[in-house]
Amino acid sequence: MKGSDGPERWIRPEIRELAAYHVAESGSYAKLDAMENPYPWPGSLPPALVREWQERLAALELNRYPDPAAPELIRGLRRYMAVPDDAAVLLGNGSDELIQLLLMAVAGEGRSVLAPAPGFSMYAMISRFVGLPCHQVPLRWSDFSLDLDATLDAIERQQPAVVLLAYPNNPTGNLFRERDVERVLEAAPGLVVIDEAYYPFARASFMDRLGRHPDLLILRTLSKLGLAGLRLGMLAGSGDWLGEIDKIRLPYNINALTQATAAFALEHAATLDEQAGRIRRDRDELYRQLARRDALGVWPSAANFLLLRCPPGRAGEIHRALFRSGVLVKNLHGSHPLLDDCLRVTVGTPGENGRFLEVLDHALGGS
Ligand SMILES: *Cc1c(COP(=O)(O)O)cnc(C)c1O
Repeated sequence: MKGSDGPERWIRPEIRELAAYHVAESGSYAKLDAMENPYPWPGSLPPALVREWQERLAALELNRYPDPAAPELIRGLRRYMAVPDDAAVLLGNGSDELIQLLLMAVAGEGRSVLAPAPGFSMYAMISRFVGLPCHQVPLRWSDFSLDLDATLDAIERQQPAVVLLAYPNNPTGNLFRERDVERVLEAAPGLVVIDEAYYPFARASFMDRLGRHPDLLILRTLSKLGLAGLRLGMLAGSGDWLGEIDKIRLPYNINALTQATAAFALEHAATLDEQAGRIRRDRDELYRQLARRDALGVWPSAANFLLLRCPPGRAGEIHRALFRSGVLVKNLHGSHPLLDDCLRVTVGTPGENGRFLEVLDHALGGS
């Protein structure tokens, strides 16, 4: 009989070394670990709109492949996201897929990616999947701003095919200074991708600068706005770049249910916009509450989450206490030296935020 050393022999060593991406079971938890909108969709729509949406879905022909061009959805996205008329757009099964397509398209001998750290974990993971070295330039210690000298230096030395900047950054929540980003745009020899996943909460964007920078691409998603379950991301920028990346996109990557639902949701975006406004206000309130607690450090955030620093050595214990009380947050301790003792909490409903604070206080007081 044939031995079963197949995976050891054939799966690339850098893939075998990886741990599978872990997603926590949520059940009845207050799920404050994944930057989701806490208000249900379609549950937060008026009943008449829910019926209208259901009728739209019922009229689909799911025996057919989805429309690969998705014209109606693209019109809605361009309008909602204020994409300049002369920019092209490419849709992905979440922005994660677009990052994957982009990196697959540039991967090869002598190519690399550059991103600040700590940053969005997918950048380094996907780089690894496609065999690209990912150079990580540490952010400044005090306020997580770009270390411009170190970044320009690394760009000069590494000549990266792609620079990835999350704006605002995850998991630190800050917007990099505009003039720092401009300097990176001027210096980078290849693509610069500005990932605006948290645009609904930051409302700061480089979208209107697409025309000025031919090698700039803007990445957006519906996930953080409130439709994470649909999996829809959008890349906007020059048709010269996007036309090449489009060649490796699988033809039916945006399914028909997602196309119809996203187009419908964008026609009725007021509910989502109101929720984003509420989340921004609740974020600022949660920030004030946390800043008042002497035992904690907390940073201002332009996103729908807050980064906080626990007393030294206590992040794991506090994370467990929250978990035991049904509140899921992300423990970042150990993921990067700048994030020692740090937790990241997504802004939930006022009730969830209150429950988080209550359990946090109990854990802080409890030793
Ligand atoms: C959450 C997040 C994304 C992921 O978006 P999807 O569209 O859900 O794949 C992309 N970029 C950053 C920085 C994020 O935090």
